[in-house]
Amino acid sequence: MATGLSATTPLVEARGLTKRFAPPARLTDMFRKERPHTHAVNKVDLTISRGESIGLLGESGCGKTTTGRLLLKLIEPSAGDILFDGTAVAGLAGPSLIDFRKRAQLVFQNPFDALNPRFTIERALAEPLVNTGVERATHRDRVEKALSQVRLPPLARFEGLFPHQLSGGQLQRIVLARALVLEPDFIVADEPVSMLDVSVRAGVLNVMREVRASLGLAALYISHDLALVRYVCSRTLVMYLGRIVEEGPTEDLLKSPLHPYTRALMKAVPVPRVDQSRDPLPIIGNVSDARGQPKGCSFRDRCPLAIARCADDEPALRSVAPGRRVACHLV
Ligand code: SF4
Repeated sequence: MATGLSATTPLVEARGLTKRFAPPARLTDMFRKERPHTHAVNKVDLTISRGESIGLLGESGCGKTTTGRLLLKLIEPSAGDILFDGTAVAGLAGPSLIDFRKRAQLVFQNPFDALNPRFTIERALAEPLVNTGVERATHRDRVEKALSQVRLPPLARFEGLFPHQLSGGQLQRIVLARALVLEPDFIVADEPVSMLDVSVRAGVLNVMREVRASLGLAALYISHDLALVRYVCSRTLVMYLGRIVEEGPTEDLLKSPLHPYTRALMKAVPVPRVDQSRDPLPIIGNVSDARGQPKGCSFRDRCPLAIARCADDEPALRSVAPGRRVACHLV
């Protein structure tokens, strides 16, 4: 796989990334020529630079997890392209795909699901190295190094232990160490602390933040939690029904949210805003049905500011200030 392109080449780039899922067949659908597909991800453009930490924010069901899985080639897109270090991910196979798997890692949401309960911690940590053909003589050193990076004791302390014998916080660090043994350049962390007790979340997030910064990793944090995104991400993308509706430097975006959906999300977190006219907005109901390709703005059913044009005219994601992009007719 090609590496070492110019430092200005984004490490990860998605263009027009789209994922449609066919709905489960129902009896009433049998006589329809075309069943509407769910657009889990819809024409998403994004870039992540080396060492950059990006937040992908939105409610459950907005397409965040699907976007992360597409970027890691765990599922295939319906349309669009993904470039990793300048190389199209779609064409990877054989050794180049294994190389990509080493360089782009997923940190799972639930540490209890991520680890095989029948594997010892030692075996779980070495498993990615075995699966990707890393020279066996290096395994022990790599595992010890990863354990120290996540501030866990040496491997000897885990000898003979199984996942159920560790705390949730320790397990999530083991899951992070398991990704780090492959010395990746990019990690996708999907709701990385949502399953943990509040009392241990800060510790795990601190470790993730320090590890990412010290190793210069690029990271995509998928979360519905504004406080988490604020703590670990320099730039944030807000997603609604598979589309990016707002993007900007995290502090700017939280202090001065522009899209009505972002303003609605703000209700959950007391961030001092610079412009009181952009205070939190109420929104109506739950995430809309993503089936079919509705005309107009995908947020219009829930938007308290919707105007007639919103029903027919889909707002483009456009630049409104340096580093800020918004998809709304009113901005
Ligand atoms: Fe609301 Fe219209 Fe803006 Fe969509 S385009 S967010 S419906 S005002």
